[in-house]
Amino acid sequence: MEMTKPKDLANPNRREVIIIGGGIAGLSAAIYLGRAERDTLVIDSGHSMARWEPQVRNYLGFPDGVDGEALLKYGRRQAKWHQVAFANDEIKSVTRRKAGFFLRGRRTTYRTNRLLLATGIFHLPPKIPSVKECLGHSMFFCKDCDAYRVRGKPIAICGANKEAVEYALGMLHYSPCVVVATNAERPHWSRKHAALLKEYEIPVYREKITGVNHRKNQVRGLRFKGGTEVKIDNIFTTRGDVIHTGLAESLGARLDREGQIVVDQCMRTSVPRLYAAGCVTPANCQMIIAAGEGAAAAQAINRDLFEESLRNHSLRRFREVQLEEERTMPLSAVNADGRASSDKARNRARSA
Ligand SMILES: Cc1cc2nc3c(=O)[nH]c(=O)nc-3n(C[C@H](O)[C@H](O)[C@H](O)COP(=O)(O)OP(=O)(O)OC[C@H]3O[C@@H](n4cnc5c(N)ncnc54)[C@H](O)[C@@H]3O)c2cc1C
Repeated sequence: MEMTKPKDLANPNRREVIIIGGGIAGLSAAIYLGRAERDTLVIDSGHSMARWEPQVRNYLGFPDGVDGEALLKYGRRQAKWHQVAFANDEIKSVTRRKAGFFLRGRRTTYRTNRLLLATGIFHLPPKIPSVKECLGHSMFFCKDCDAYRVRGKPIAICGANKEAVEYALGMLHYSPCVVVATNAERPHWSRKHAALLKEYEIPVYREKITGVNHRKNQVRGLRFKGGTEVKIDNIFTTRGDVIHTGLAESLGARLDREGQIVVDQCMRTSVPRLYAAGCVTPANCQMIIAAGEGAAAAQAINRDLFEESLRNHSLRRFREVQLEEERTMPLSAVNADGRASSDKARNRARSA
């Protein structure tokens, strides 16, 4: 049976929902919104951090691990199966008007009633020549994601702040062989942190790092100015993140002290009809958490759209089309001529 859908009656120039960001959070939201029959467009510039991880081993349901790139591919396929549309574009600016949001991308412009920001963050790699080739293989950013896989191996923590010291102390849980390398930056950790390094006998290398000795993405050592090479198998860094909140800020959304978008439990931001999910929010930056936040945001958007449709009577208009065009009562089980009996019942219901 051909069914009328709410999106058939919607303004074709304006999407019910646009998601900026087709990474883990955005795709999870897209799947939920597609299944909720919402007219949804995902706009993505293609730089999900998930691409950097060839072996995700902490995501539910993949006991043998899954390539981050493959996870994105599966998610996109799942969302497309639910009629979600995709655009490869980068949104440069957003403005909020009475009728909704107006988005300007590199390629074209878009309008939407509700906007979800799932734009993620960018982890800054350490400033070490040729280290980028080892990203996700033997150079990592996240203890929760990757400490388990480097257990028992020699590890260098690159950084000169107190986070680097705390990182090194935390890594002792996984390996007895942990060093800190400041890359010639003056340490700016506290006395307490200096004392901890001493107490736990963690070596600190203060010279400039001139390069990484690696073969096929696998780190083998750190080379220092003056010619020393220290044999290590893995590097973790604490240089920090660039959080993609420019669009949120331009709309006046509240950020926390760390620069992440403040959201309530339903992923609503401080700006009406604007939501955020994934690593742009204060949540821990993990795939499964990003997926959960995307789902929570989608549920809130769906609920909010439903309430809006009661307030502005668009549900009533939709129902009128259904009553005109579709079979709205079940066929009678008693009557052999089902169509006639349901028509009668419909008429009765209408005149009641
Ligand atoms: C090396 C590495 C290894 C990791 N390993 C793991 C792991 O093993 N397990 C784990 O749980 N997590 C891991 N992570 C973290 C994981 O990748 C993130 O938690 C996850 O990708 C966050 O999802 P997200 O949707 O918030 O952001 P992302 O997946 O990064 O997606 C954001 C998307 O938004 C798009 N975007 C941004 N701005 C715009 C714009 N203006 N217009 C259009 N599109 C835009 C980007 O192109 C990107 O596709 C790892 C991260 C790195 C860097």
